[in-house]
Amino acid sequence: MSTPSKAVLEKLTPVLTKRWLSPDAWRLDVYERLDGYAALRKALAVHPDDLIALIKDSGLRGRGGAGFPTGLKWGFIPQNDGKPHYLVVNADEGEPGTCKDLPLMTHDPHSLVEGVIIGSYAIRANRAYIYIRGEAVHAARRLRHAVQEAYKAGYLGKNILGSGYDLDLVVHSGAGAYICGEETALLDSLEGFRGQPRLRPPFPATHGLYASPTVVNNVGTIASVPYIVLGGAAWWKSMGTEKSSGPMIYSLSGRVKNPGQYECSMGITLRELIELAGGMQDGHQLRFWTPGGSSTPLLTGDHIDTAMDFESVAAAGSILGTTATQIFSDQDCPVYATYRWLEFYHHESCGKCTPCREGNYWMVRVYRRILSGEGTLEDLDTLLDTASNILGRSFCGLGDGATSPVTSSLQYFKQDYLDYIEGRKAPKLSAAALAGA
Ligand code: SF4
Repeated sequence: MSTPSKAVLEKLTPVLTKRWLSPDAWRLDVYERLDGYAALRKALAVHPDDLIALIKDSGLRGRGGAGFPTGLKWGFIPQNDGKPHYLVVNADEGEPGTCKDLPLMTHDPHSLVEGVIIGSYAIRANRAYIYIRGEAVHAARRLRHAVQEAYKAGYLGKNILGSGYDLDLVVHSGAGAYICGEETALLDSLEGFRGQPRLRPPFPATHGLYASPTVVNNVGTIASVPYIVLGGAAWWKSMGTEKSSGPMIYSLSGRVKNPGQYECSMGITLRELIELAGGMQDGHQLRFWTPGGSSTPLLTGDHIDTAMDFESVAAAGSILGTTATQIFSDQDCPVYATYRWLEFYHHESCGKCTPCREGNYWMVRVYRRILSGEGTLEDLDTLLDTASNILGRSFCGLGDGATSPVTSSLQYFKQDYLDYIEGRKAPKLSAAALAGA
């Protein structure tokens, strides 16, 4: 299984990743030689409403996790309202296992800048922001360089390419809080406040950045736009499934031979993705995996033929999310993996609402007890009870997401919990870890 078959290799559909292997594609002169900014010239000759119609027709759905139809989101922006409009790119990629936006911004930053200009023109925004996570220093440097080059070449600023359209673009680095990937927390952070989710409604489409109509889109979503403008909606829809159109960048990590990003038409199966990644590491069998980051319910080796599109993953009982496909084997422990994810959510909880702030704190303590060999059968009920009091009662998706690995690992791997509790499995944590809980 280490050499992908020709049939599986043909499943690769490099669109957003097509320039990644071209040396210096991050520089404007190279990007322009590779079709760069051709889509912008085409778009500026089209009425903004027709661009929104094109994106609606393509069926493009958000690549940040929710999968909301992009054209529909753009269409929510009120017109002729006399207010400034904003386009904000959510580049705060921080979900455990997710690694598709950072390589895109590093290798091909102009594709994002070009998408921002076209998207801003479509929603009639004259100011746009790219909010990038603070730790992504190299990608931010590349983006700022690309923005400077775009200003010098007349792709940004006043009267872009003589069209009469003006746009300013600012790259803003966050301060490393996972919660700022939640769109309203991101907007608060961008305004200079502590990043915490806002009550909705009102939604950003009418009351977003500085209380003005705002579209917040993920990096991959916006970077898809120039390709759709050049290739057309029918070409985009020729890839993927009826309801999940286009290519998707899947980031595979964990127990595969060649972890990395694989761009394929949506609907490719996990089995094929693993084959593309060189197969499982020698001596390892697939045991559990996340379709879209640790906020999505775990699936098992029995789900290996699940098609990786929004509908099929939902039918299997999980969420496509950020397509961060983390692969675990028979040598990995689902209880310990869940504990490590919970530590992350506990640490990143912004503390605004009680179910998430307190619930994650207590669930971490219970996991430490189980993994130290001090757990009881009642602990399993406590975990399920706590998770059910977080799910649907939290202020934002972080709380809900934190319960996903807990409930799904208990659903599929209860025996592993029992093995710790009943002494058949050696404790994974020391008594000192428990004492520090
Ligand atoms: Fe903050 Fe968690 Fe509540 Fe979201 S769910 S608002 S992260 S405390």
